[in-house]
Amino acid sequence: MNKKITAQSKDFSQWYLDLIYESQLVDHAPTKGCMIMRPLGYALWEGIQKELDAQIKALDVQNCYFPLLIPEEFLQKESDHIEGFSPELAVVTRAGGKELEEKYVIRPTSETMVYHMFAKWIKSWRDLPLKVNQWANVVRWEMRTRPFLRTTEFLWQEGHTAHQSKEEALEMVYNALAMYKNLCHDLLAIPVITGQKSDAEKFPGAEKTFTFEGIMPDGKALQMGTSHLLKESFPASFDVSFQNKDNKPETPWCTSWGTTTRLIGALVMTHSDDKGLILPPRMAPTQVVIIPVGPESKRAEVLVYAKTLKKELFNKSIRVSIDNRPLSPGAKFYDAELKGTPFRIEIGPQEIENNQLVVKSRIQDEKQKIVRNDTVSFLQAELNLFQKELFDRATKKRDNLIKEVSSWENFKEELESGYALTSGWCLSPDCEQELKKIKAFTRCLLETKKNVICFFCKESSKQDVLIAKSY
Ligand SMILES: [Zn+2]
Repeated sequence: MNKKITAQSKDFSQWYLDLIYESQLVDHAPTKGCMIMRPLGYALWEGIQKELDAQIKALDVQNCYFPLLIPEEFLQKESDHIEGFSPELAVVTRAGGKELEEKYVIRPTSETMVYHMFAKWIKSWRDLPLKVNQWANVVRWEMRTRPFLRTTEFLWQEGHTAHQSKEEALEMVYNALAMYKNLCHDLLAIPVITGQKSDAEKFPGAEKTFTFEGIMPDGKALQMGTSHLLKESFPASFDVSFQNKDNKPETPWCTSWGTTTRLIGALVMTHSDDKGLILPPRMAPTQVVIIPVGPESKRAEVLVYAKTLKKELFNKSIRVSIDNRPLSPGAKFYDAELKGTPFRIEIGPQEIENNQLVVKSRIQDEKQKIVRNDTVSFLQAELNLFQKELFDRATKKRDNLIKEVSSWENFKEELESGYALTSGWCLSPDCEQELKKIKAFTRCLLETKKNVICFFCKESSKQDVLIAKSY
């Protein structure tokens, strides 16, 4: 228990807020709807960036940068798009000391700018595929904000590609989705469900949108990122075309895909507890913290010993630090738990004399004694086990939050009790519309066809669907 953090069981939403401020991931920004990412929060984003950037490049996608300010007329070229985004747009109308004749939208996403450039860069089938990615910030004017989950300005990456055929573009859409799923499973230890969005829930202007969704401990679904197939909207509206192999003009099939700082919100909600954050070792900026204990008079000797150990661990690529701040060991233990450091090692004169160190895992109650010379191999093995344990725990928890429910009569109650639901759906938008009345949404279509009837109209079901309240 941490007295400054509301118990998760008492108020999940307040627990989340207490936790992210108390652990110093973020601070309140003087700018409405925005957040300040403090070093620990930003280090988590850097961890995601580093891993994801390498995976993006492995798909032969190159990084670029497009302007933050987009001419307003660009957004008007794609009517679905402007309709989908319009209330969320922030527009620059004044600059250089005068009203602007041409207004600029602060990018909510860069499709319009990217397709303007694709029209210039793509001439023939030889120019395809064209695959770029941008790491940037975007602005969407939000009424109700919550750090990492929904903020007016957030950080993300957006990939944009153009292809000769639909098959090739779809392959890119699936590759991006698989890349995100692996990132969530392997790095963040968060199990996700992937699938196609319904027409009502897809990206404005997309032919198809695929999503990866996490189910948070309160039963709400969190859309963690998306991958879209595009054609008639953006590429066609922006006159992107190429001479095909028969010398005929053709519109390319395109894709866009992105994920955001939302992943950090998902990470926090999925693993953490009432004592503070729990970070998967692969994400933790500090995997092991060494805390000197024992009398102050012996501190110098303990520090020399600790530094040797630190160097040994560092040389084996373990991210390690020594907490030598002028605080009591108790305060440091508390802080290490709050910040989610996977392991702490206690070293004092007694440990040095016995050649045994005390190790405490963030997810186990018992401390362990380890022979000094076994420390490196012990930690290497334990860090891997910790990572796996978090994924297994999260998967079990997630599976318990999803209920198969066939009758509409039980929907509201199950959703209110904190469950996400799977059911059959006839795919009619009218049935989907009914969900809004109970503040739920279709999250994605599932591969399965286990259910025979539609959750609402009781006609025959065409596909299973994941339904939940959402962030
Ligand atoms: Zn139906």
